[in-house]
Amino acid sequence: MSITPLMPVYPRSPFRPVRGEHCHLIGEDGRRYLDFAAGIAVNILGHSHPHLIGAIQRQAATLMHVSNLYGSPQGEHLAQRLVDLTFADTVFFTNSGAEAVECAIKTARAYHSHAGADHRHELITFSNAFHGRTMATISASNQEKMHKGFRPLLPGFRYVEFDDLAGAEAAIGPNTAGFLVEPIQGEGGIRPASQAFLRGLRRLADQHDLLLLLDEVQCGVARSGTFYAYEQYGITPDILATAKGIGGGFPLGACLATEKAARGMGPGTHGSTYGGNPLAMAAGEAVLDIVANEEFLASVRARSERLRGQLEQFIGNYPEIFVDVRGRGLLLGMKLKPEARSFVGYLRDEHQLLTVSGGDNTMRIVPPLVIDDSHIDEFLARLSAGAAAWQPRAVAP
Ligand SMILES: *Cc1c(COP(=O)(O)O)cnc(C)c1O
Repeated sequence: MSITPLMPVYPRSPFRPVRGEHCHLIGEDGRRYLDFAAGIAVNILGHSHPHLIGAIQRQAATLMHVSNLYGSPQGEHLAQRLVDLTFADTVFFTNSGAEAVECAIKTARAYHSHAGADHRHELITFSNAFHGRTMATISASNQEKMHKGFRPLLPGFRYVEFDDLAGAEAAIGPNTAGFLVEPIQGEGGIRPASQAFLRGLRRLADQHDLLLLLDEVQCGVARSGTFYAYEQYGITPDILATAKGIGGGFPLGACLATEKAARGMGPGTHGSTYGGNPLAMAAGEAVLDIVANEEFLASVRARSERLRGQLEQFIGNYPEIFVDVRGRGLLLGMKLKPEARSFVGYLRDEHQLLTVSGGDNTMRIVPPLVIDDSHIDEFLARLSAGAAAWQPRAVAP
């Protein structure tokens, strides 16, 4: 037997974290790493946040799980908070981002089916999108690396270039149900949609009775500098998928929708055994207690400006490594030169600095949202040391 007990689907790095302290991780070997990866944009309160720990501990000792057979005071409360904070009228809780997107897709299909238009099942999606790893969510992305070996894909998705409004309009046909798009592509390389693009999709949706589905699994929950990124575009979606940061590290996601968009989602149409269980609700409540206020959001924007300004100055010194700085809020990226592909791993292993590699040869900088200036200084110090000592090496194709 040569397969590992952990199914070997991840090319895992040699770093083996065993403990978290605020914005740092401690490895099995005792070394301290600065964590600007945050579990891939998940640990928005950092590690070991006392308010989150306390909420989870108290709820675990009170009631962890009962299923969705019964009334849920915990679920009703968190759903009401999300309704009050956003465009939405109703919320379905999930355990992951992919499930939140699945619910968004089903809600969109049910919307048209409810009107007797079952043929209107096709979602227009965009190049280099990432929506998760289930069959429906890989089918929603055009990325070949996620399709290989898993065909046949689910029908009902049509791909258009990201940020190409004319292409999106041209793709509308009699079977179109709506658009599914990340306002800021995360995995695809930290690419914010333009104002004209998102506003244009909203307008097209209104003109053609289509639904606008936003995937804010990565850019949502204060990460972009507003509670949800759509707020920066002066539009609202019909349906939105959220996850990652919303549980602060506890597995939690949600599909938010307007009353109109959710018209097809009656009793028995959808479900999840764990979804919205009291323990997950306690985690979500604790996260919102900290981040869902203007003061916190303003602090994210201030940290973003400081970090981004310093990065923009910094990259000028190392044109052989960096191409540009991109993103919004604390969802930032540095595009790397092709020959600097291994820079993320090098920073991790040689300078104890954690970031995340992404598409378009981009290094994702997604720290906990609770960083202060000292963490930004430490980030710059480690990044500078790394860049100064970096030797481009040949990378295997
Ligand atoms: C991470 C991510 C997902 C998938 O979330 P999982 O929790 O891994 O299922 C979906 N959409 C976007 C934009 C993401 O970044």
